[in-house]
Amino acid sequence: MTDGRARSRRRALLAMARDLLPQMIAVRRDLHMNPELGCEERRTAGMIASKLCELGATVREGIAGTGVAGVVTGSGPGPCVALRADMDALPIEDRKDVDYRSRVPGVMHACGHDGHVAMLLGAAKLLSSLAGEFSGSVKLIFQPAEEGPGGAEPMLKEGVLSDPDVAAIVAAHLWPDLPTGVIAVRGGPVMAAADSIGITIRGEGGHGAAPHRSVDAVVVAAQAIMALQTIASRQVNPVDPVVLTIGTISGGYRHNVIADEVRMSGTLRTLNPALRRAVPDIIRRTLDGIARGAGATFEFTCSPGYPPLVNDERVAATVADSARKMLGKRHVIEDVEPSMGGEDFAYFLQEVPGAMFMLGAGNPDRGARYPAHHPRFDFDESAMAVGVALMVDVALELLERR
Ligand SMILES: [Zn+2]
Ligand SMILES: [Zn+2]
Repeated sequence: MTDGRARSRRRALLAMARDLLPQMIAVRRDLHMNPELGCEERRTAGMIASKLCELGATVREGIAGTGVAGVVTGSGPGPCVALRADMDALPIEDRKDVDYRSRVPGVMHACGHDGHVAMLLGAAKLLSSLAGEFSGSVKLIFQPAEEGPGGAEPMLKEGVLSDPDVAAIVAAHLWPDLPTGVIAVRGGPVMAAADSIGITIRGEGGHGAAPHRSVDAVVVAAQAIMALQTIASRQVNPVDPVVLTIGTISGGYRHNVIADEVRMSGTLRTLNPALRRAVPDIIRRTLDGIARGAGATFEFTCSPGYPPLVNDERVAATVADSARKMLGKRHVIEDVEPSMGGEDFAYFLQEVPGAMFMLGAGNPDRGARYPAHHPRFDFDESAMAVGVALMVDVALELLERR
């Protein structure tokens, strides 16, 4: 495609996406008022499937429970590119003062997944109106349970990337930390592996007044927590990030009784896969030294969570290039720092090249000033127009390039 044609296509996409904005806002607000937790997205999935059917897309429902995929086919043969949205809400009480506040007590779309769904349906609409102008197909993937236990991996196991086979995949995450109209994207690792750890320290109980006749599990746990902090600071290469957070601790019976057992749980975050494999052994060795020194014993478990999210360099460059041309150079951030948060879009990126970009949606005048998972979280809805235009443009670019 010539530069001139690509330029006018981008302008047209932005204009079409802005025209679609009222419909996307209506969908988003409907979902916002009716949020559903992970694996329970039945109403959401039903709405998605019926809208995709109305557009004439080929729809597959019930993938990994509530997952939905729709395929919009172009006018000629060609590859298939996928766009992905997550659908689930969080167990958080909505504290916003807006008329589209959640109507479900204790459940809230506090991560913008309602907007992700609205944007992907907007993309489906744009693509079906452009079907005469591209070859190949675009698969729109709506996945359950991103916030846990994870819908991406089970959807992959049920073959969501085949028939037609997906060559590349792109996703956007609404990001109120960036202003509306700005996007951030880069190749390489951008989100962390998020593994869960469990530690039990066992000592010997006794009278609080006779510590010499017991092994105090509370004191051993305290030493263990501090020693674990030396993993990031002293035991691994400082240019490779590790976060080890002990999030819970419990043990003991009474103020004057020495505890025989303390249980702790935590999260282990890494970007580098080799380090991810190495750290559990370092934790075990550290715990072993502390426990042995005190005459205690320990148990340690590490349950793998989402893998690190690694953007493909070429697809990330395509997103950045498309965004620069559509939004202007100053609105594209490529030296963005990786986040130690986790995202199960990572599983898709282990199967096919792709990229996730952060879609700026911060706007204090519209109440979009709180971070994700905050009880007052909201995003600037006009950002959805930017997101849809960009996702569709990138999909068309990727179809043409392959
Ligand atoms: Zn989230
Ligand atoms: Zn999210």
